Amino acid sequence: VLLSESAGIEKSQLKADLKRIGITKGDHVSVALSFKKVGFVKDGPDALIDSLLEVIGPEGTLMMNTFTQSFPLTEIKRDYVFDPLSTVPYTGLVPKTLMKRKDAIRSRHPTCSVVALGRLSKYITDGHDEHSQPFLPYVKLAQVGGKHLCIGIDDRLVGLRHEAQRRASLFIVPTFMGVLYKNLQGLVNVFVWQSPPCNTRLPELVTELERKGIVRRGKIGNAQSIVGNVNELIETMSAMLKKDPTLNLCYDFSCLRCRELERRMNLHGRIKNPKFFQKSLLIRRALGYRNRLVLRRYSCVSFRNSEWKRRIHPASILEVGIRRFVWLISKILK
Ligand SMILES: [Zn+2]
Repeated sequence: VLLSESAGIEKSQLKADLKRIGITKGDHVSVALSFKKVGFVKDGPDALIDSLLEVIGPEGTLMMNTFTQSFPLTEIKRDYVFDPLSTVPYTGLVPKTLMKRKDAIRSRHPTCSVVALGRLSKYITDGHDEHSQPFLPYVKLAQVGGKHLCIGIDDRLVGLRHEAQRRASLFIVPTFMGVLYKNLQGLVNVFVWQSPPCNTRLPELVTELERKGIVRRGKIGNAQSIVGNVNELIETMSAMLKKDPTLNLCYDFSCLRCRELERRMNLHGRIKNPKFFQKSLLIRRALGYRNRLVLRRYSCVSFRNSEWKRRIHPASILEVGIRRFVWLISKILK
């Protein structure tokens, strides 16, 4: 692309785009995004943050996910300690930039923290710590009529969709993860949490949400974007998943979370067009055995240093063996 072709996207265009998709004065809005998809923005992430803040005004609130790492319980990193003041989120440049703004507040949850700026920033981040449920800020946003805006990340309703899964009681596979964190007293502690179910198929729910008029589509810069009311999104998604939990099941036979979810919830009889690995009792047994081995990684706490290499354990050879065996059968059946 020639640089002379365009001087970049102006703030005025971003503001017009935000208004067009339905962001208005006084909105409390959580934003999840891929900044790259927006295009070349003149003045970078700050211009996008300013556009959002100017459209919602001082009465509104801007929130972004500043999620951070956690590890299988048997492999907690000794030299990674979450500190809300300094740990860099993996959710990208824009949330990282928002964190640096004066008056921005980052919550203390060791894996699912958020940053908020604006009128309700304190309310939204308060009490979101190691003792609270991980997606509390979305519950609060739902209560105040907040909106969720996803920019350039297709139909992935990041963050909020896990709250829908939680309400649909899908957190039943014991995939516990851990991370070291600094608590309010400055002491280093271990935090353990149950990581969310698989989300591969959740974007498919958005078609239905759009049909119901809950999701609206538009463009921010060059990025395809969607927006909706947080409460309606969570309520409708969780109702759909509760009514038919098979909507959550992906098609990857080696997906620990989905294969264990269908086994533990006894969903095999309810799956429309089941795959070979969902039909064959033999393969279901083999995968069940393999998953039991894998789940050991999430069942008891131990630590590792950064130079750590995973030991080759007889169980992991068996685990890979079973996975290869199922893969081979899938090829033969084709
Ligand atoms: Zn899956």
